[in-house]
Amino acid sequence: MNDGDGVLIHATGSEQALSRLLARLESEPPPLARIESIETQSISDDLESTAFSIKDSLLGENRTRVTADACVCPACREEVLNPQERRYRYPFANCTHCGPRFSIVKEVPYDRARTTMADFSMCADCEAEYRDPADRRFHAQPIACSVCGPSIWLEKATETPFTVERTEQAEVIAATVQLLDQGAIVAIRGLGGFHLACDATNAEAVHRLRTRKARFGKPFALMARDLEATRRYCHVSSLERELLESSSAPIVLLRTRGTNGLPEGLAPGLKVLGFMLPYTPLHLLLTQEMDRPLVMTSGNLSSEPQITAVEEARTRLTDIADAFLMHDRDIANRIDDSVVKVMAGRSRMLRVARGYSPASTPLPEGFEKAPSLLAYGGELKSSFCLIKEGAAIMSQHQGDLEDVATFDDFQHNLKLYTAIYDHRPEILVADRHPEYLSTKLARADAERDGLPLLEVQHHHAHIASCMAENGLPLESPPVLGIALDGLGLGTDGTIWGGEFLVADYQSSRRVGSLKPIAMIGGVQAIREPWRNTYAHLVESIGWKTFTERFSDLPLFDHLSGKPLAILESMLASGVNTPLASSCGRLFDAVSAAIGLCPDSALFEGQGAMELETLAEEWLASSEVEGPAYPFAILPIGEPTLPRIDPTPMWHALLDDLHAEVPAGLMAARFHRGLADAVFEMTTIILAEMGPESRITTVALSGGCFQNSLLLESLLALFESKGLRCLTHSRFPSNDGGLALGQGVIAAATHLADQKQDVAGK
Ligand code: ZN
Ligand code: ZN
Ligand code: FE
Repeated sequence: MNDGDGVLIHATGSEQALSRLLARLESEPPPLARIESIETQSISDDLESTAFSIKDSLLGENRTRVTADACVCPACREEVLNPQERRYRYPFANCTHCGPRFSIVKEVPYDRARTTMADFSMCADCEAEYRDPADRRFHAQPIACSVCGPSIWLEKATETPFTVERTEQAEVIAATVQLLDQGAIVAIRGLGGFHLACDATNAEAVHRLRTRKARFGKPFALMARDLEATRRYCHVSSLERELLESSSAPIVLLRTRGTNGLPEGLAPGLKVLGFMLPYTPLHLLLTQEMDRPLVMTSGNLSSEPQITAVEEARTRLTDIADAFLMHDRDIANRIDDSVVKVMAGRSRMLRVARGYSPASTPLPEGFEKAPSLLAYGGELKSSFCLIKEGAAIMSQHQGDLEDVATFDDFQHNLKLYTAIYDHRPEILVADRHPEYLSTKLARADAERDGLPLLEVQHHHAHIASCMAENGLPLESPPVLGIALDGLGLGTDGTIWGGEFLVADYQSSRRVGSLKPIAMIGGVQAIREPWRNTYAHLVESIGWKTFTERFSDLPLFDHLSGKPLAILESMLASGVNTPLASSCGRLFDAVSAAIGLCPDSALFEGQGAMELETLAEEWLASSEVEGPAYPFAILPIGEPTLPRIDPTPMWHALLDDLHAEVPAGLMAARFHRGLADAVFEMTTIILAEMGPESRITTVALSGGCFQNSLLLESLLALFESKGLRCLTHSRFPSNDGGLALGQGVIAAATHLADQKQDVAGK
C-alpha cells in the first residue's frame, strides 16, 4: 500500500527470494518510480501467505510524493495505433508507466478518488485490468477507455470563416487535422492547459496567430510528429534526442538547418527553434495525421497564465481560435511545457514545469537538519521552493507576478504545494526587494502567521542556488560567485546585475562588479534598449564627442530622433535614473547600438538573444574572428571595488560601426571581449585575495548564462586555469532558480544560529 512514508510492502518467502526482490527493486524499478531509500525490517512468520494484493492508501501524514506527469509510453503508443487493440485511437490511454499525475491531482495521497478522474467510473474491462497484478495498468489511477473514460469533441468559434461541425468521436481528430490543414487556429485542451495550434509551415496562419494573441517577437514552440520530422528542420545531437524522447518530453531548443522552409515569423531574428514531441495520445493521434509540425503555443492572452478550463477557453480564446478541440478530463493544476537547451555539452533547464515538477531534490551534505521553510522566489519567471526534511521541492514555473492572474495562481499554488507536502514552514524567505510582489506576500504571511522572515540579496541567492544544485556541502569554503544577470537589488541600495561575490551559504561579500551605468527612466530602459546605448555612450565617451566624431553613423541619426533633451535633464537631475551594474542592460546597449530592436524590445533580453544569434552565425560561417573587444578593469582601491569598464569596448565598437564591419563580427567580438573581461577580473580578484582565501571554485549564475556563447567561452577560460566551475543544469540560471538559493541561505543561517546557541550553553 501507499502510506505516509511511501510504498509499504509486506512480503514473505525464502531469504533468497526476498533478497532478489530487494535487488530488483533497486536495479529495475518501474520507469516512473523514484527510489529515495529502501528500509527493511523483519516481520513475524505468522503473516499468512496470500495472493498479491494492494490495500487502500492510508490517509495520514502526506509524505508520499505526487509525481510529475509523464509522456505516453511505448506500450501505450503502440496500443493506440493498433486497430486490434481495445484502446485503438483512444486519446486518454495511459498506464502505470505513463500518463497524467500532477496535472490531475486535487489532494493527496494520490488515488483516483482524489483526482479529476473521480468523475469517471471504470467499466468492467478497465476494472479487471486495474485489479490484475500482471497487467500494465494494475492500480493505474487514471485508467480509462473509450467506454468509460474522458472523450474529445470539436467546437467552432463564433466568428470564423472555417466550417466546423461537431463531429462523431471517431472523426474529431480527422476534422481537427482538416482545419489545421486549411490554416485554422485551433485551441487544444491538453495535459496541463490549452495550447493554440496552427500549421507551422503556413506563414499566414503563424502571422495571424501572433496578431490575434498579441504575442510579438517571442518565439513559438513547435510539436513535430517524431524525431525524423524534427531533423528535417533542426540539428539534433544525441543528448538533445535523449531529452526530446525522455518521459518528461520537454521543449528542446535546437539549432535550425540553413534553409528549413519554415516561416521566419516562428522565431524572428533567432536561429533556434523549440521543438517537442507528442506527449499525450491526443497529441500523438493529431500529429500522426500531419506531415508538418504544429505551432503549440500556450493558450492565453499575452503574458497571462495558460487557460485550463473549457468555459474559460470558450470566452477568453474565442477571438484567437477558429475552433476548439476540447476534452472533459479536468485539469486540476495548470502546468506549462518545460524548456531545456543543451549548452557546453549538458542539458540546461530554462523553464522547469511539466514532466519535471513536482520533484524533490535532496539538499547537499550538512543540510539534513534544515528547518522547514518556504522561499518565495523573485518577481519575473518566478517559482517558489519548499524545504522539508533535508530536501528541496521547487515549484513549477509560475510566470511573471506583475500579471494579476499569474499572481493569483502563484498564491493558489503556494497553498496547493503546502497541502500536497503537508508543509508547515517555520521560516519564510524572500528577496530583499521591497517592491517584489512575492516579497510583499511573504511579509504579509510572516506577519499573519507570526513567522520569522529572512530577506536575501538577489545575487547571493543566485550563487547559492548554483552551489546547492551542484551538491556543494554546507561547510564548504567560499566560492567566487559570478552573477551576470538582469536586475536585482544590491545591499547598497543600488541595482546590481554584473557581480563578483565571495560567497558561502551564509554570507556573501561583493568584491567586484560591472561599472554601474544609469538606467534612464528606470524600467523604461528594459523596454527601450536604446536608452542604455545612450547612457553608455554618455558615460564612456560623452555625447559631445560622439556627435563630433560619429555623426555620419545611422546610430547617430537614430538616437538623435529620440527625446534626448529629456533624458539629458533626467541624468543631470538624477531623477529616475538609478545606477545599475547590470550585464543584461550592457547586452541591451550593445544590441541596440548595432541596430537590433532599435525602438523597443518586445520582451526582456530580446536584443541579447538576437546578438547571440548573430555572433554564433558569424563564428560558424566565417574564418575571421577579429580580436575580442577590449574592456578595462578599474583598479582595486578602497573604497571603490574593481569594476569592469566597457569604455574601450565602445571605442572599438564605434570604429567598427564606422568601418561598416558586419554585425555578426561585432557581436562575436563583443561576446569574446566580455568573457575575457570577466575572466581577467576573476584572475585579478583571486590574485589579490591570495591563497589563504581557499577559493578554488567559481559558480556561474544569473540570466545572462542562458547565453551559450558566453557560458561556453567562460567555461573554456576557467578550465584553462584549472578552476572548478559550477554551472546550472537542473534549475534555471535565471530567476526561475532563485528560490532554491533563498531556501538554502535561510537554512544555513538557521543551522549556524542553532549551533551557536548550543555552543553558548
Ligand atoms: Zn503507458
Ligand atoms: Zn473502461
Ligand atoms: Fe536575477
